[in-house]
Amino acid sequence: MKDVIIIGAGIAGLSAGFELYKNNIDFQILEPSNRAGGVIETRQIGDYLIEGGPNTFSSLSKEILELVRELGIEDLLQEASPKAKKRYIYRNNQLMLVPSGLKEFIKTDVLSKEGKTTLLEELLIKKEEKEETVQDFVERRFGREVLKNFIQPFLNGVYAGDVQKLSANAVFPRLKSLESKYRSVLLGMFLSSDFRKSFKGLSLYSFIYGMETLPDAINNKLKNKITLNANNIEISRAKDFYIVNFKVNNKTINYTANSILFAIPAYAISKYAYLLPKNVTSEITQIEYAPIATVVHAIDKSKIGALQGELNGFGYLCTKEPHRKLLGTVWTSSIFPNRAPENKVLLTSYIGGALYKKIADQTEEEIISLTAKEVAETMQISDIGSLETIYIKVHTNAIPQYNLGHPERIKHIEELMNKNTGLFFTGNYLYGISINDTIKTSKSAVEKIKRFLDITVKKQEALVTHP
Ligand SMILES: Cc1cc2nc3c(=O)[nH]c(=O)nc-3n(C[C@H](O)[C@H](O)[C@H](O)COP(=O)(O)OP(=O)(O)OC[C@H]3O[C@@H](n4cnc5c(N)ncnc54)[C@H](O)[C@@H]3O)c2cc1C
Repeated sequence: MKDVIIIGAGIAGLSAGFELYKNNIDFQILEPSNRAGGVIETRQIGDYLIEGGPNTFSSLSKEILELVRELGIEDLLQEASPKAKKRYIYRNNQLMLVPSGLKEFIKTDVLSKEGKTTLLEELLIKKEEKEETVQDFVERRFGREVLKNFIQPFLNGVYAGDVQKLSANAVFPRLKSLESKYRSVLLGMFLSSDFRKSFKGLSLYSFIYGMETLPDAINNKLKNKITLNANNIEISRAKDFYIVNFKVNNKTINYTANSILFAIPAYAISKYAYLLPKNVTSEITQIEYAPIATVVHAIDKSKIGALQGELNGFGYLCTKEPHRKLLGTVWTSSIFPNRAPENKVLLTSYIGGALYKKIADQTEEEIISLTAKEVAETMQISDIGSLETIYIKVHTNAIPQYNLGHPERIKHIEELMNKNTGLFFTGNYLYGISINDTIKTSKSAVEKIKRFLDITVKKQEALVTHP
């Protein structure tokens, strides 16, 4: 009998497996595809190192950095060029530098004079405890311009989401708690030393061989604890344990297990609805996902033209415009110069999101042409033909949307995990979508599993002593 069967070998399943491995708990990870890592996928294509999923993580990523130490891969970390600290917003047909300090804020054109005054008036606005959308929260406290020119593009980069639907409480829990504690978010930012400290010396990281280094390292450590190409996974409940059947190369394999950890996207859990209370199934399956396509271009440095001097930064995020489908473009070779030949620029663009779900129904050719058009327009590249498409990956269900009601939805899932039925959940749809948050969520699920197994073992021992 296994202690735990983990379903899914994305970073959620892998990091949970590693945590169980450290605690000498017997487990097996089942993954239907032929590789571990989920959306974290790096490719070497010719002279270019490409990311199909995540690009970077920040130095605030405590859980990733701890994992990196435990896996002994610190020497493979790659810090972003200091250039990457500059970030741009595409607005009014131009790229505008995001202010990084008070001096730049006073000078910036990203906000008008009125917009800056409304922002500062936040200090006088009374607090609101109820859950609200990002749009309601930001407009109420900081005004429309901050919403349009900073928050919507910022959320394009993280959730590819819709501010009219996303829950401020789920997306900005720290800002909501500053509001709750200090009445004003700005005052809270100023008075909370924890908040200020957390942004000091912030830098970005990846690995020399790209983001896939992390899941690869866990995969190497766990090896025979991961079953790839595990198809037709079926789970049934016996009296106080689970029976798991699946096929590998048409051969049926069975396991029995004390518990199951679902490390798959929320929508995929519907297949196992019969194991869950109705309310939990309906909460989980209501979580909406936004599609995103990643399109990678290479271009001769000389063809960047007017912008050449400005490719000095992380890249840019787009403000919402009626015709805009591009979410933003990362200047990959400015962040990590070794990822493209010296005379080339490598651009990673993201297109689609909650406001343009149609991307999921378009052909790759259509997406390639749409992206090239918008990249050329936003970066003022006059010869669109000079953009060479190196790679495209369409993520039909890329990012879970933490829409209004999300905190309540998650409470139901949490309650089920605390009921000691042996069913546990982890993944980016629960407590944060970044890789770091996902690892943190997996660690917390493993803590719950450990408590559950303690109870199970005690029960079994009691049965042996007093049958
Ligand atoms: C385009 C993109 C860019 C991103 N950029 C960043 C970034 O720069 N920094 C950052 O921190 N985060 C970023 N993220 C977010 C982060 O990468 C993800 O949230 C995280 O990797 C998700 O991990 P996961 O294990 O929860 O899910 P996944 O990676 O989706 O893994 C789920 C696994 O479950 C398997 N599976 C699916 N269905 C089933 C089923 N029915 N049965 C069994 N197995 C199943 C899948 O094959 C997969 O292996 C990005 C995400 C995307 C899509």
